[in-house]
Amino acid sequence: MNITKPFGSTLDLIGNTPLVLLKGPSEAAGCEIWGKCEFTNPGSSVKDRAALYIVRDAEARGELKPGGTVVEGTAGNTGIGIALVANARGYKTVIVMPDNQSQEKMDTLRALGAELVLVPPTKFADPNHFVHTSRRLAEETAGAVWANQFDNIANRKAHIEGTAPELWEQLEGRIDGFTCAAGTGGTIAGVGMGLKAFDENVRIALTDPHGAALYNYFACGELKAEGSSVAEGIGQGRITANLEGAPIDTQYRISDEEGLHWVGRLLREEGLCLGLSSGINVAGAIELGKQLVADGRKDVRVATILCDTGFRYLSTLYNADWLRSKGLPVFEWLERD
Ligand code: PMP
Repeated sequence: MNITKPFGSTLDLIGNTPLVLLKGPSEAAGCEIWGKCEFTNPGSSVKDRAALYIVRDAEARGELKPGGTVVEGTAGNTGIGIALVANARGYKTVIVMPDNQSQEKMDTLRALGAELVLVPPTKFADPNHFVHTSRRLAEETAGAVWANQFDNIANRKAHIEGTAPELWEQLEGRIDGFTCAAGTGGTIAGVGMGLKAFDENVRIALTDPHGAALYNYFACGELKAEGSSVAEGIGQGRITANLEGAPIDTQYRISDEEGLHWVGRLLREEGLCLGLSSGINVAGAIELGKQLVADGRKDVRVATILCDTGFRYLSTLYNADWLRSKGLPVFEWLERD
């Protein structure tokens, strides 16, 4: 039996997520592709890990005191993680979010008791961008701290100390490659650093959606974005503090169509209901697996992140009208009457 010990606190439920062999992707890659089931965290996403580390770090530095407030700018998942952690620790939460994120994320944040501030989606250079708005709100609110997930390296520490050693142990010290997309970059940088500390031959690949600038940065040193993506939570245009020093060996660029193809197949063939960043990660993991096989590595094992639950996107990814409105292919089973 593979059951975990009982926990004394709900916060201990964050992390220690299961790892699952993905059959379709493994066949497509010609090697083992493993998915880390981050949707099993209490907030149903990988961001619970960063939320916990950021709140604990602010407590340890004495900045967050009983009754205080955590303010954050987020595409949604970090906010959900912070709201849960803050509730469990007795803090209030204020979340600033672009208003083009899924309705489910907004409803979830309100349901958890967070105060939600919606702003128009703008470029980072705009002073009203959700990140800058959240920093200002934190400065203006007594007893508040700014979580600052993009440039607070407590975020990637969660993956150096958590996700990476978990993967290493779950795969019994035999892992050839790891890849995922970057939002803050905390996951790719932290898991990359953590795995390289165990074995420097683990190949770390960044999987970038279209519309993000990191692919070009790691390929040719230029932060240049091309195209666009509807994927929420990923796609970065700058080197955040979390991304600084990330040990990226190679990079792939994956389209929304390709990501959606894997979201659909994982749902219908393996019973996993995921968000689009997971599909993009899986497509990247297949590329990395194929490359490692082509390079002559034997018995190749690649791991990636299944970032969040698809139940968060019922009104978007799993809605035929929405998919059509974005010019994306509609899953055939959504076409039924
Ligand atoms: N996928 C989803 C759905 C997310 O919300 C995020 C976080 N914004 C990521 C992937 C990327 O994680 P990270 O911030 O660690 O790069």
